[in-house]
Amino acid sequence: MNQAVDRCRTLRLVLGDQLNEQHHWFGTVDPQTLYVVCELHQEVTYVRHHLQKIAAFFASMEYFAAKLRSRGHRVVHLDLDETAEHADLAALIRHLARESGARRFEYQRPDEFRLLRQLQAIGRELDIETRCADSDHFLLPFERIAEEFPTDRQLRMETFYRRMRRRFDVLMDEGGKPEGGRWNYDAENRKPLPASADLPEPLLFDNDVADILTRIRRHGIPVIGRLRGSSLPWPVNREQGLRLLDHFILHGLPGFGPYQDAMTRESWALHHSLLSFALNTKMLSPAEVIERAVGAYRAAPEEIPLASVEGFVRQLLGWREFVRGIYWSRMPGYERANHFGHDRDLPAWFWSGETRMACMAHAIGQSLDHAYAHHIQRLMVTGNFCLLAGIDPDQVDAWYLGIYIDALQWVELPNTRGMSQFADGGVVASKPYAASGNYIRRMGDYCSGCHYDVTARSGSLACPFNSLYWHFMERNRGELETNPRIGMLYRSWDRMAEDRRAAIQATAHELLLDLDAL
Ligand code: FAD
Ligand code: SF4
Repeated sequence: MNQAVDRCRTLRLVLGDQLNEQHHWFGTVDPQTLYVVCELHQEVTYVRHHLQKIAAFFASMEYFAAKLRSRGHRVVHLDLDETAEHADLAALIRHLARESGARRFEYQRPDEFRLLRQLQAIGRELDIETRCADSDHFLLPFERIAEEFPTDRQLRMETFYRRMRRRFDVLMDEGGKPEGGRWNYDAENRKPLPASADLPEPLLFDNDVADILTRIRRHGIPVIGRLRGSSLPWPVNREQGLRLLDHFILHGLPGFGPYQDAMTRESWALHHSLLSFALNTKMLSPAEVIERAVGAYRAAPEEIPLASVEGFVRQLLGWREFVRGIYWSRMPGYERANHFGHDRDLPAWFWSGETRMACMAHAIGQSLDHAYAHHIQRLMVTGNFCLLAGIDPDQVDAWYLGIYIDALQWVELPNTRGMSQFADGGVVASKPYAASGNYIRRMGDYCSGCHYDVTARSGSLACPFNSLYWHFMERNRGELETNPRIGMLYRSWDRMAEDRRAAIQATAHELLLDLDAL
């Protein structure tokens, strides 16, 4: 390590997803405290990450270190060259503690289980006092998770969300009633885009990451995805995060509600906020994002419908906090859940986007180009395909955890393994999110340009989602037929002529023999 480590009394570790300028640590300047911000090999190799994801984390960490220094804090920022000689985080911390003569080691509670376990082990091993601080980010205090997410009961996001609305007094009327009289505006939302939709342009930044790209290449870090040139479009500091938030409120929020489930070849972001990276790195807090969105609605209710602001609040106050609670109350067993016993390999084209299925080619292609796909692409296109085809959830997780700019295990795992693959047997979702090609046709414009025919259920040109859907339903009939939310679908399957059903099953069998050929 080239950089000499100054003496200090307290060594404080700031992880790459803890870039929270408003954290209580930074309220006062203590000349005896040394902050450590470090690029770690272990963090860029535990799965194959998207190039933009690694570049965005490293660039944001560099900015954050510089920001702390400008506020008078003492900071050591170590890049991959400087940390390469240490086997892992534990070896690095041992070295830094020794060199600095620190008498105390402090870290903020990590959001990922593997890091918590590692930091707790480091703490036990060091012969100096170790303390864990809260990350000052989430709305629900960590200590309340066990009580809110008991493992012996069926949990539903909707009931949790209502409690959170009441508890934090968000969009509430007098007397504990939801503003507008309803908790949920799903009936107004979930619309496909009209033919002449005016789609907002995403706000893209121009952050030069040439040095970081060179470093990633020099260290032979395996990556996926692409970045044109060396200009990173993602926000790398709080100022950019706030600009992105303002841009979203002005251009995206009004249409967010109605079109949050829509898909189109014409835009990779639609009305979505693109805020997940800024949020998951903690540059922005969920509380301030909610406050600003609600404030904008109050200032201009004629421009921002309640259905849109409620839909957005539901994602942050509801889903985001809910999946975090599921993660921490169900780990470590959760990462091994495989309810349906799925074990097929992920088709090779997940890494290239080269498939004749237009919806998959588009969702995967844009993920490789932008490290981003919006929720419905993740859930109802790529995720739906993996569920219907019976792909091994470990491989599905590794793909999602690597490819998306916002992918951190605490939020990726319950969404992928839980919501999308139903591998948890119904902890997150009350039914599998399984759908035939008709859903994709209804919600987007992919099917018109596809090699496959969305109206056909059998034969070599039939939309693969159609036969795979009925194959999935049939192979899980024993369990799903009694599910009140989908059981009735078996009635229409049973009414179909026997030879048609046989042809659909035969088509699915044929596809499953060689998914790579789709
Ligand atoms: P918007 O659509 O603008 O939503 C606003 C914010 O709400 C998001 O930034 C996010 O913070 C929050 N949010 C919305 N939906 C969810 C959700 N289901 N769970 C948690 N937070 C939510 N999100 C991640 O942050 N990291 C992941 O690794 C991740 N993996 C996913 C995997 C699958 C299979 C699925 C179905 C969803 C996943 N999500 C993940 C949730 C969601 O798709 C993304 O948060 C969202 O697409 C990010 O884009 P956005 O910022 O434009 O979101
Ligand atoms: Fe996707 Fe099927 Fe439509 Fe093709 S026809 S775009 S595979 S849903």
